[in-house]
Amino acid sequence: MRATGITSGCDAAIAAYARRVSSASCPTRGTAAPQSSARPAAPERRARGRPSNQPVSHSVHRERSGAAVRLTKRTRPGKGTMKNEGIEGTERFLSPDKGRGLRAVRHFAVGELVFACPAYSYVLTVNERAAHCEGCFTRKEGLSKCGKCKQAFYCDVDCQKGDWPMHKLECSAMCAYGENWCPSETVRLVARIIMKQRATTERTPSERLLLLTEFESHLDKLDSEKEEMNQSDIAALHHFYSKHIIDLPDNQALIELFGQVNCNGFTIEDEELSHLGSAVFPDVALMNHSCSPNVIVTYKGTVAEVRAVQDINPGDEVFNSYIDLLYPTEDRRERLIDSYFFNCQCDECTSKSKDKAKMEIKKKLSSPPEPEEIRAMVHYAKNVIEDELLEMCELSQEKMGSIFADTNVYMLHMMYQAMGVCLYMQDWDGAMSYGEKIVQPYSVHYPAYSLNVASMYLKLGRLYLGLERKTQGVKALKKAQGIMEVAHGKDHHYVAEVKREIEEQK
Ligand SMILES: [Zn+2]
Ligand SMILES: [Zn+2]
Ligand SMILES: [Zn+2]
Repeated sequence: MRATGITSGCDAAIAAYARRVSSASCPTRGTAAPQSSARPAAPERRARGRPSNQPVSHSVHRERSGAAVRLTKRTRPGKGTMKNEGIEGTERFLSPDKGRGLRAVRHFAVGELVFACPAYSYVLTVNERAAHCEGCFTRKEGLSKCGKCKQAFYCDVDCQKGDWPMHKLECSAMCAYGENWCPSETVRLVARIIMKQRATTERTPSERLLLLTEFESHLDKLDSEKEEMNQSDIAALHHFYSKHIIDLPDNQALIELFGQVNCNGFTIEDEELSHLGSAVFPDVALMNHSCSPNVIVTYKGTVAEVRAVQDINPGDEVFNSYIDLLYPTEDRRERLIDSYFFNCQCDECTSKSKDKAKMEIKKKLSSPPEPEEIRAMVHYAKNVIEDELLEMCELSQEKMGSIFADTNVYMLHMMYQAMGVCLYMQDWDGAMSYGEKIVQPYSVHYPAYSLNVASMYLKLGRLYLGLERKTQGVKALKKAQGIMEVAHGKDHHYVAEVKREIEEQK
């Protein structure tokens, strides 16, 4: 889910909260999804701390019986028989100080697809069941449910058959455990990876440049809290999956695998950055991080697409962003060290060119605040975000508003949360006025092409249209469209959806 970056611990709270918000019905399919990282979300951000198995009580669609579609066993050729053809226009290389990375060998223009990567393994988040197909992640009405567990939903029998080797790990267990079935999303994903590894002996199309087995696990850098979380995940894996996965790998192998997934897993998000699920995309994970990335990752179903958002020349390294780019350098650095164990030395972290605007101080103060006062306020802001978000967002805006300008990123963070509360309460006018305050500064603080900015325009545009403010609605949707045509590609169905919404207003 998307994952925001202040300090560790806050994301899970926001994530849990966002799920509550996104389940409310509203014209924007409302969500206070945390900021996009379109990238490896560390475990506690990605899948922990959320209520992991809320009973699904969606309306009943067409009934379909019989989950037990068994895959016939295929015999596979030995490992390595699939020729490794790499990814056209790019190459794997050793990046100075960063280890392996991805480099362009030809020019890529803004908006151009650099490469696409099917998920090696993926899992739909529990809260999106019935709204999305478990097999292909298509969002539509009238999906058919698994006749046995009645909790998995599919477009048709092909999607159901295709997903059965993975769904069978959970189908009867969900029936048996009922409401006590609650593995975290990381555990669910790891179970699928183990099955996929057993069924696959050759290099997959998701691993043209990087094999999943090559993932870094950074086990030597885990603190005791992270180690404990890994152990409880391993216990949950044994508890919920040992019946269906014969001979689970030994403890050390599982520790390694969870470490690898935690550092290299991705969260799949929709166009409003609502969390849809978790996945591994080995080739996408090859890209190193920059706070001024030259590509953006979006999703078409369960396929990740990587598009240029800056001109990329032959010889340039291809950089993705792992974190939310809203926050100032010090916050980003903390987040990257905590989750990914490296010290970012990118141009943005060196120049800190946006920090001043991001930390804007109120203009009309009689005396400018002391640095100490600002530090104390930052400390306060972070605590609020972590601990008392919901109750505090209004109060904290009042307090921070004594020295922070409305465009200050901590003010924006609170407004974003307040907008989520408004959506949850179905207070559309309130949500709209927060959206209006957020969207301009967002455009300043984020890079020129940003999924966070696009999703904010999208939410705002849909709110406007829901409130019959046609002109403003169309204007906001067009802004979203402009960014999405570059980030998602002109032929992406999300772009088509936005275009249709604009067209309908004519
Ligand atoms: Zn499907
Ligand atoms: Zn089932
Ligand atoms: Zn950086």
